[in-house]
Amino acid sequence: MARPEMIASGPGSRALVVDIVRSSGPISRVELTQATGLTQPSISNIVRHLLETGVLRESGRVASTGGKPRTLLEINPTALYAVGIQLGFEAMTFVAAGAGGGTVARQLVDGAAVAEPQDVVERLAAQFASFIDIAGISVDTIAGVGVVVPGPLSPAGGTMFRSPTLRRWEGFPLLERLAALLPVPVLLDNDAAAAAVGEFWTRRIARTETFATVYMGTGIGAGVVLDGALLRGSSSNAAELGHMTIDADGVACSCGNVGCVERYAAPAAVLSDAGTAPRRFAGLGLEFTEHTTGSDFDRLARAAVNGHEAARGLLEHSADRLAAAVVSFNNVFDLDSIVLAGPSFAIAGSMYARAARARIEQTSFARQAHGTTIEIAANPRDSAAIGAAALVLQSSVAPGHGPALHP
Ligand SMILES: [Zn+2]
Repeated sequence: MARPEMIASGPGSRALVVDIVRSSGPISRVELTQATGLTQPSISNIVRHLLETGVLRESGRVASTGGKPRTLLEINPTALYAVGIQLGFEAMTFVAAGAGGGTVARQLVDGAAVAEPQDVVERLAAQFASFIDIAGISVDTIAGVGVVVPGPLSPAGGTMFRSPTLRRWEGFPLLERLAALLPVPVLLDNDAAAAAVGEFWTRRIARTETFATVYMGTGIGAGVVLDGALLRGSSSNAAELGHMTIDADGVACSCGNVGCVERYAAPAAVLSDAGTAPRRFAGLGLEFTEHTTGSDFDRLARAAVNGHEAARGLLEHSADRLAAAVVSFNNVFDLDSIVLAGPSFAIAGSMYARAARARIEQTSFARQAHGTTIEIAANPRDSAAIGAAALVLQSSVAPGHGPALHP
């Protein structure tokens, strides 16, 4: 008789309970029993454990029909913190989040650029110490640090293979070096995939939703959340939307494929188009260097939303190419909702959202069965760092969903 109870109280059930409390807000034990399908004794055990460890707290009572009032449970937002760090070429973003996912501190510092990886990792560790000091967060309350990078990652998850921007980092033992330098457990993941978990966690999306983010930084990626867990694929490189072919006879891509949507819609492609007619964009201050792709794209996007005709034409073209890929992506996963996240949606995200909505409404395979909502992240520039923190929260309070923290 002991065994079924052990299974019912295991990490999977605990993750289920945490996910339901997180997405529903204050909820009673009775409602939890109904929502999870677990037995009352299992719920009692799991809740007792989560109260003891401080993950949940009691948040008042509601009257019930007959009987005594029901105590409500909610996530305890100050029980523990997670730090998320996005390591990028142009910038490093640090965020600290409470257990509910809300951001409590943020800092932006210089990116990796072309410095030696070991020097950058040492700078990151020093910055982490000053970041939590300024934020007033004690290291004892930090569950871990999530570091996210522009993928792809090796199957073991400890190194980058090939990154269009961080070329020097290929094969560098990133996870191992981070773990050696940081005083708390660490995990490493892909920025676009992490953003999906961040949006899932902070938007309180229910685990019954089939949810995805489309991420655009320098490149294009995506993350899919099914049943509350990030879809990882065989090697944590799933949902590589940027390398979905939209033209089988198209241009060659650095990934080895041809006609990848990234080669038509990503910032570098848009800037390369602008570079063929530089006089039309004179006055926008575009520098057209590898180091300024992000800032150049921001300038172009700002011009587009301010009515600069040529800039608008380029952005609309990019949005339309991406929308075509998003329809195929949606046809594969049959999504309830999509959030556009990442720094390259920060200024002209609404142009991309409108193009994707129009294409999905007109051409999506399941359009008669259900709608797919398309929204823009609340903080597109911070999505990946927030996601990195959410991955830590998920692995510490609702374990069993993703990579474990590296001690
Ligand atoms: Zn490709």
